[in-house]
Amino acid sequence: MNILVVDDSRVIYAMVKKMLEEKGHTSLWAEDGLKAIEIIKENNASNTKIDVILLDWNMPNMNGIEFLEYNFKEKVTTTPVVMMTTENSPESIKKALSLSAAEYIMKPFTSDILFNKISLIEMMF
Ligand SMILES: [Mg+2]
Repeated sequence: MNILVVDDSRVIYAMVKKMLEEKGHTSLWAEDGLKAIEIIKENNASNTKIDVILLDWNMPNMNGIEFLEYNFKEKVTTTPVVMMTTENSPESIKKALSLSAAEYIMKPFTSDILFNKISLIEMMF
């Protein structure tokens, strides 16, 4: 699979990229929601498939919730989104799910947890 990781932390991206590569997946990195939209539009235009989006909550410029709100309105992509978050309040989770996030994963997470979520997503979509 080809996975877009949206996170302002280069360290987190490096960690997730390694987990994905160990299982034979490729990844792209966007450091915020705006950059993610740019990458998604480029990929739409070139017909390159992004299978899953892993989306951080707290980011500068456009955060995870703002990204979901934007995509909910503008329908830039129908690719399933998994929120990666430290926000575990029920309201936050509810908000993300109401804006069409498919799943969420609590940070920090292991490779096993990540791939459990990804295989769940594969079954759902
Ligand atoms: Mg962050």
